[in-house]
Order: sequence, then structure tokens, then C-alpha cells
Amino acid sequence: MVRKGDGLSAAETTSEIVRAMAATMEENRRHLTKLDSEIGDGDHGNNMHRGFQATLERLEGADPFTPAGVLKAVSMALISKVGGAAGPLYGTAFLRASTALSDKEDVSAEDAAGALEAALGGVKQRGKAEAGDKTLVDALEPAVKAAKETAGSSETGVAEVFRAAAEAAKEGAESTVPLTARRGRASYLGERAAGHQDPGATSTYLLLDATARVLEGSS
Ligand code: ADP
Ligand code: MG
Repeated sequence: MVRKGDGLSAAETTSEIVRAMAATMEENRRHLTKLDSEIGDGDHGNNMHRGFQATLERLEGADPFTPAGVLKAVSMALISKVGGAAGPLYGTAFLRASTALSDKEDVSAEDAAGALEAALGGVKQRGKAEAGDKTLVDALEPAVKAAKETAGSSETGVAEVFRAAAEAAKEGAESTVPLTARRGRASYLGERAAGHQDPGATSTYLLLDATARVLEGSS
């Protein structure tokens, strides 16, 4: 449970997660850009970095009271500052997760899995991609499945939910390597997209891994 009274409030823990996400997008900027230069237009690392820097600026002046408030700030920054496919898709994901958490001050394992599932629903609705299309859905969908399974077993906390999600997302991202793309810019390449890992699936893994690391450190 991410809850008030554990030293940091759940909203503060969520802000810490977002700072860790921003840091991992900074560290992996070149890596993600390199992946996107292989099958896209080489901007994914810069897009994600710009979006999370804008998020940090937005959060500095705001100080939301709930996890949902923090996630909404992420969403607004990504939607307004990131062009391309990933900005609106991740923006929708964070917005749906925010809506799912509503005004909860504490986040249980099941709440966390529910927020991830809502995020996936938003991405699929907006981008119309299914698993196997070589997009971030290939990382997020198995992550949601693992999160729900973990949340459903007894005595699991939010950290375990995100660790399971991150591991599944890592495998999911790796599973995009042999695929050809049916959505996004990589679909213009046809067979030439095969042999490369999808940048968006990779950033999804990195964001979930950053979340798990913060929660593991604070539990
Ligand atoms: P752009 O493709 O506009 O340059 P980015 O490079 O930032 O945007 O993001 C590319 C990533 O976005 C892809 O690697 C893929 O994972 C994801 N993506 C693209 N289109 C879709 C879609 N329709 N549904 C889900 N994810 C998508
Ligand atoms: Mg791109």
C-alpha cells in the first residue's frame, strides 16, 4: 500500500516516481532515439525527455494532494509538450490512470493494477493498436496481466505489482524485435522494421521499472 503516514504521503511518493521516470528518460534519451532512428524518425528519446522535463516544471509549481493529481499533471504536460504519436498516447495513459485512482489518498495493489489496466484501455482506444502490432501495447498489455495476477494473490504490495509489471514489460518489449509494425511510423517500413526493438515498448518498460525501483526503496 502506498499510503499517507509512511513518512511520505502517497502523493509525494507518486511525485518521487515521476522524478525517477524523468531521470530514466534523461539517461535513456540517446538509447530511445537510436531505437527510433532504426525504425522511425529518431525523436522518441527527445520526445519523452522533453515531456518529462515539462512535467517536472509543472509539478514544481503545483504540489498535488493525491496520486491522481500528480498523474494528471504528467498527462497534461505530455499532451501539451510532446508531438508525435507517443505524447498523446502516454498522455492518455496517465490521464486514464489518474481517473481510475480518483480522489484516493492511499493506493493498494489492486488500485495500482486497476490504474495500469485503465491506462492500457486508453492507449488501445486512442491508438487502435493490438498486441503484436509492434507498439508500446506489446509491453503494456503483458504488464497489466502480470500486475493483475500479482495484485490478486494475497499479501502483495504495490512494489511487487510494479516489479511484476516491469518484468513482463521488459519481455514484451523484447518480443517486438522480430515483428513487423502495423501501427505508427514503423509500419511504413514493412519487413525492414523486423530485427529492431520498438522504442515505445522500450520506454514503457523503463517507466514501469523506474516506478518499481522507487516503491521497492520506500517499502
Ligand atoms: P512518432 O512515431 O510520431 O515519431 P515517437 O517516436 O515519440 O512518435 O513514438 C513512437 C512510438 O509510439 C512507437 O515506438 C510505438 O511504440 C508508439 N506508437 C506509435 N503508434 C502507436 C499506436 N497507434 N498505438 C500504440 N503505440 C503507438
Ligand atoms: Mg519518432
